[in-house]
Amino acid sequence: MTTPRINVSARLLDLTRNLSSITELETYLHALLSAAKELTGSASASLLEYDETAKEFFFNSMLWFQGDQVRSARVPVQGSVAGWVFLYGKPVVIDDVATDKRHYKKIDELAGFTTKSILGVPVIVGERTIAVLEVFNKLEPYTNEDIWIAETISALIAASLQTNSLEKNIQATQDEARELEQMKNEFIAIASHELRTPLGLILGHATFLKELLNEADYQEQVDTIIRNATKLKEIIENLTSVDNYESGSALLKSRKVSVERIIEDVAISFSDMAKKKNIALRTETQPSQELLVDIDGGKIAIVLSNLVKNALTFTNEKGQVVIRGEQHPEYVKVTVQDNGIGIPTSDLNRIFDRFYQVESHLTRKHGGMGLGLSVAKVMVEMHGGRIWAESKEGEGSLFSFLLPVRKTQPLPQTPFKT
Ligand code: ADP
Repeated sequence: MTTPRINVSARLLDLTRNLSSITELETYLHALLSAAKELTGSASASLLEYDETAKEFFFNSMLWFQGDQVRSARVPVQGSVAGWVFLYGKPVVIDDVATDKRHYKKIDELAGFTTKSILGVPVIVGERTIAVLEVFNKLEPYTNEDIWIAETISALIAASLQTNSLEKNIQATQDEARELEQMKNEFIAIASHELRTPLGLILGHATFLKELLNEADYQEQVDTIIRNATKLKEIIENLTSVDNYESGSALLKSRKVSVERIIEDVAISFSDMAKKKNIALRTETQPSQELLVDIDGGKIAIVLSNLVKNALTFTNEKGQVVIRGEQHPEYVKVTVQDNGIGIPTSDLNRIFDRFYQVESHLTRKHGGMGLGLSVAKVMVEMHGGRIWAESKEGEGSLFSFLLPVRKTQPLPQTPFKT
């Protein structure tokens, strides 16, 4: 009895559509085996998957026997129909199994079942056969159409097994990345905690010594100790401020603050650095606007300082850096623009990641730990704001951030992913 072609196509189409929404691989494979059985008019079907390590087959799915004995049975490559299909990579039809040596009789014995005829097709992924689909015991001989049906279903099996293995790989990679991130966070938390106490002592004692010393010679040495210990303290604070936010423990001390004031203060604090590099550092705000928002002024000053410091660091002599502030009805926008070295497009959405630096730390000329922008991002987002960068290599960069006037206010979409 042959199944009408229209039914075959409809059923195969249905199975193909379901491929994209598999949630349970086992159920889907079962549906495919049922279709293979019914559409070829066979008594049953099984899927034998090749185990690369053991170099033999195991039953991945079967319709005909649910007993553990057969479920856990193994089928060798030599002396089995599955092995033949696997080795030759093409379909096989055996109408009378009794007269063919390729059939592995042990499974029949285990299941108390007699295989009379078999159609086996390879399940191929890329160029590799990874499993064999078998349908068996059709009352009439298997036809070319049966082979075509079995091969179509085998292609769906290949796609579902492949998808499943890719999903498993993605899951494993994500788990691994999460674990590494966790280890990194723990390491940072422990290291910064352990460093803070001795550093506090160094700074405290060095400051005390500075007060005791009169001789100008020693003052310079002590100043160097204090300056560098303060630098280390800043690094540790940067590390922990990201960590604090992530663990949700950072508390904002928000009140109405003039962003215009912050812009001016930050510009003044960087004027020496700008002068040393012969860079024109300018601010542009509208005189009538104070840019008042409810923020933690200290944190936003850190954000702006990190952006300005980078702009000055990555801009060559005689360049220019402009800090702008704009009041909008729903938000305040601050930008830092430079005409420095710029950032390659491929790095643009990674620069806000913790420890990310465009240049390798082995070859880079500048200091830093790749923390400034991640700290800025965390701090802006703490305020319900958004930060992003636009840049062209060799022409300069434009860093922008928005601070909502009211924290619950949705902000306009930004052009770049951060
Ligand atoms: P770091 O403190 O190491 O500079 P950041 O997180 O502040 O770390 O910045 C990450 C990286 O982004 C920098 O190392 C630099 O490669 C790049 N970058 C940041 N700002 C600029 C800029 N204005 N111009 C060019 N590159 C920049």
